[in-house]
Amino acid sequence: MAQEFVKKGKKIIGAGMNYNSLLAEKNLPKPKEPFFFLKPTSSYITEGQDIIIPRGGLVNEEVELGVIIGEKCKNVTTASAMRYVGGYCLALDMTEVNLTDAAIKTGRPWTFGKGFDTACPVSRFVGADELKDPGDTEIWCRVNGAEVQRASTSDLAFSVPEMIAHITKYVTLEPGDLLLTGSPPGIGPVRPGDVIEAGLADILTMTFPVRSA
Ligand code: MG
Repeated sequence: MAQEFVKKGKKIIGAGMNYNSLLAEKNLPKPKEPFFFLKPTSSYITEGQDIIIPRGGLVNEEVELGVIIGEKCKNVTTASAMRYVGGYCLALDMTEVNLTDAAIKTGRPWTFGKGFDTACPVSRFVGADELKDPGDTEIWCRVNGAEVQRASTSDLAFSVPEMIAHITKYVTLEPGDLLLTGSPPGIGPVRPGDVIEAGLADILTMTFPVRSA
């Protein structure tokens, strides 16, 4: 798959509020089912490109483990879900806060808040053999050298197989599609001139500068 998922994938599906520690911080009970939103694949950027804050926007960073689908699947059980995973990446689910907050208040979709150009920076492809335990992997994020997020995916409210089972009740997942597994606490704003650095276990780090439109 290499870096092909960025060109080949048809969907980016993001999980919302999917860390137990984040739910606890916001005093929310664990929901009965996971929930998801879509980001367009036009929001992908890879290292060497900048995160561009939309005019007048306020943008938060969210570091997340990305799961890349390797094989077409539909109506998958939790027990069999991992067999359709082709690999992983580290991702930043960049979020424009003003649009997203307004959408939440009015019950409207998060389309541009989650989907603006450059809203999905991703690392290189990580093979399934390279990431030994996706259910207990450390991710972290630094802004201008200061750590803002660090968590293990063992704190996910819904596991990767549970999410794949839920999604494929409704949507066929295809090779190259990306599942963003949700962000741990520590989500915060970034500003033009900031540099975001994030890491996945001892496998990789990635760096993305932030600038204004
Ligand atoms: Mg997120």
